[in-house]
Amino acid sequence: MSDVLLEIAKRPAARSLVQRIGLPLPVPEPLRRADGAWREQELAGLDVVIALHGPLAGDVAQVLRGAGARVLSEAPSEGTIGALVVDATGLARVADLRSLYDALHGPIGRIARSGRVIVLGRAPESAASPEAAAAQQALEGLVRSVAKEVGRRGATANLVVIGEGAEERARGVIVFLASARSAFVTAQPFRVTRTAAPLVGEIPRARSLHGKVALVTGAARGIGAATARLLAAEGARVVLLDRPDDERETLAVARAIGGSTISADITDRDAPARIARAITDSHGGLDVVVHNAGVTRDRTLAKMSTKEWDQAVDVNLGAVVRITDALAKGPLRDGGRVILLSSIAGLAGNVGQANYAASKAGIAGLARALAPQLAPRAITVNAIAPGFIETRLTAAIPLVIREAGRRLAALGQGGQPDDVAHAITFLATPHAHGLTGQVLRVCGGALVGA
Ligand code: NAD
Repeated sequence: MSDVLLEIAKRPAARSLVQRIGLPLPVPEPLRRADGAWREQELAGLDVVIALHGPLAGDVAQVLRGAGARVLSEAPSEGTIGALVVDATGLARVADLRSLYDALHGPIGRIARSGRVIVLGRAPESAASPEAAAAQQALEGLVRSVAKEVGRRGATANLVVIGEGAEERARGVIVFLASARSAFVTAQPFRVTRTAAPLVGEIPRARSLHGKVALVTGAARGIGAATARLLAAEGARVVLLDRPDDERETLAVARAIGGSTISADITDRDAPARIARAITDSHGGLDVVVHNAGVTRDRTLAKMSTKEWDQAVDVNLGAVVRITDALAKGPLRDGGRVILLSSIAGLAGNVGQANYAASKAGIAGLARALAPQLAPRAITVNAIAPGFIETRLTAAIPLVIREAGRRLAALGQGGQPDDVAHAITFLATPHAHGLTGQVLRVCGGALVGA
């Protein structure tokens, strides 16, 4: 179901007409998005201003230049700003917070359409004093507010919390956030730690999944199909799994990207062993698994049948636990990636979605608990929590609720399957080797959510 306001926004004449007649809703800004694979110079054409020169600013400037950006050490006197980087890692006192105001007050009104604000901080829990922890925690509130202020221009604001000794691992996260691949990621803290996968030397800038094997469940359509396409574009050999009823659609996507298929219902009792065996036989091992298959069975708890409860919980969570276990004991190689699909509606809770919310909150728990267990094998485990994404799933929502889902986000619109697929693909690449045990929202700054 297309977004009429966004269609208007894409036509300059219609947009100015709507603005003149004073529609009660702000017209959302069409987002600048990336298509296809990561480029050698992913940030070519981007002007970045370093607005606060903390201890990491020099290193970050070098990384951004290496990815093709033009880096300025202060805001130019006029014109728009493509991306603003605020290195707040050195802030240790409440009085220091004033430097954030000084860094942002002038430039924030000049952030470009689809521009970026990236704030760098340190983990409050390892701060040297309670006051330093308070100063660092303040960054999260600041970033969430900045995201709302710049969101109407289609711009995003995110926080990178860099653990001690994890500075190098933050580089890929910063490039992702500066790029057009993170168009729908906003108001999100990324916690970079040393405990994730080990450093792998120079990260190939293009086709960084060359030679890797990736399994995507629920790959016939929507977010799963978009993810399969992007993983293949990065060079991965993709195995697409969906239900036997959807075999034709799954085969069509597989054919287009040179992938292979497994036809299975993930809730079948023999599915974990069958999937593990099929991958071992055909590819010898597995590097990335994306647990994307999911269903809603919405009804208030009072009216919900046991069948509706069981289906949502078993597809979204039970099968994920069982299949991950079989893969980890079987074909999943050391250094691999496990990527789970949660949901912000799940994390926040929603009327009529007790089953779905229980399963998707369970996914967050699974990601957090599995991460330390698989860390000795350098396997990372993360969950993505999409907000309102324009797919078959959300087209079925009643109009008023659908409109609220779109407009109440900081970016004032729904996301596209590719927005989630870009985040998943980023987690699969070596760029994300500093992230594990996290639940990352791809929600355009939705009103609800964790
Ligand atoms: P979709 O309905 O378009 O696609 C889901 C796919 O999963 C389908 O192809 C379906 O056949 C497959 N699937 C379902 N049950 C299966 C089973 N038992 N065995 C094998 N395959 C099965 O959904 P989507 O919108 O692309 O969502 C993908 C994931 O993202 C889901 O986990 C969903 O909960 C999550 N999510 C979506 C949104 C959104 O706004 N669309 C928001 C939050 C979370």
